[in-house]
Amino acid sequence: MRIYNTLSRQTEPFKSIHPGIVNIYVCGPTVYNFIHIGNARPVIFFDVVRRTFEYLGYSVKFVSNLTDIDDKIITRAKELEVSEQELTQTFIRAFLNDVEKLGSSTKYDSPKVTDHIDPIIRYIEKCVSSGFAYEADGDVYFDVSKLKDYGILSQRHLSEQTQGEKSLNNDKKKNPLDFTLWKKTEEGIKFKAPWSEGRPGWHTECVAIIEDTFGEKIDIHGGGSDLIFPHHENEMAQAQAVSNHHLANIWMHNGHLQIEDEKMSKSSGNMIFVKDIDVDPMGFRLFTLGTYYRAPLMYSEDALSTYVNEWDRLKRTYSQAFYALDLIEYLDEKPKTYPEIEILHDQFIDAMSDDFNTPNALTSMYAVVKILNQKLREDDAFEMILAAYKNLDTMFSILGLKVSLKRLTKDDRNMYHAWKDARKNKDYETADRLREKLTERGILA
Ligand SMILES: [Zn+2]
Repeated sequence: MRIYNTLSRQTEPFKSIHPGIVNIYVCGPTVYNFIHIGNARPVIFFDVVRRTFEYLGYSVKFVSNLTDIDDKIITRAKELEVSEQELTQTFIRAFLNDVEKLGSSTKYDSPKVTDHIDPIIRYIEKCVSSGFAYEADGDVYFDVSKLKDYGILSQRHLSEQTQGEKSLNNDKKKNPLDFTLWKKTEEGIKFKAPWSEGRPGWHTECVAIIEDTFGEKIDIHGGGSDLIFPHHENEMAQAQAVSNHHLANIWMHNGHLQIEDEKMSKSSGNMIFVKDIDVDPMGFRLFTLGTYYRAPLMYSEDALSTYVNEWDRLKRTYSQAFYALDLIEYLDEKPKTYPEIEILHDQFIDAMSDDFNTPNALTSMYAVVKILNQKLREDDAFEMILAAYKNLDTMFSILGLKVSLKRLTKDDRNMYHAWKDARKNKDYETADRLREKLTERGILA
């Protein structure tokens, strides 16, 4: 496995800190609204990262937080005239529904910031006692000038940053780029802390949750590339101050989703929410995986529908193979090995192990589908159909592409054989009637 590391700007061989275990943290959403299709990309991609490691035999601890304290939450709650808690509960539920809709697992640790206030306060105390943070009138700020290599993740130099961002200054800060660890507040949800009644800063929430849930440096920290600065830079700065390490060995960032059609872009207010995706969500998942994760993903209705149609074809072949095998009660047999299929399987795994190169992996997957389509047209090719089907099934499960198929009942099988008999006896009327029923059940395409 090789992974591109934003910190080193290099693709590096992956070596987990503990043998056989991968610890991953991905920044989760701020829960004040539905997620849009741009937010869907990390939800899908990092789920595929987890699945790939699991396939490779690692035990994966995957944590992704829910930011349920934020200025945006306070503002939105006011607008909607609900409590902050009601608002965040609603959008946490909505988020988890969307994650499931996109075919990603929700069965990971998803800590809420409000459940980690004590460890967050303890973490800020450590930043203060290590001399990297200071209190100013009830607020706590991180002193970026104290950290020699502040800016290494985003590759920004302190001097050039300060010049461009004078607007970040306020009276309490020593440097314009000093960021908030604790904010004294009068408004919205607040908690008692040694400095004031207030709430934590976003950058501290994540690093403190990582410290609290993993207790050490992690293998992979992930998120969208828009989080590199300031969010991830500042998370890392605090880990350097408190624990003298870079928080994660590998920092992974997915590229943006860009909406090609001007009319649909965010600036015009026409956000596309995941909940409103009205095509097969697996087609949408395939669409996001069709582009290498670090590259921008260009969204248009045409681009999406190409993948939705592609997914329909994949699904059809997969289902046909499943039923063809189940009809002869051959699905649970152990497949034989065929070099032409093994090589595609290996190419698929190689592509996934090469910094999760999903477009190359898809090429190998399509080649397996092509073999399946050929073999499905032949008589008595069930052994090779089984081998190709099992391989395709593995590829689907690594990519999180799901097709729900029910095993055939005795009735289904009888009907299928009756249809075959009717065709053989040239009783086309009966054959047509049975074909229709079998198609309805999804057994025939
Ligand atoms: Zn974060």
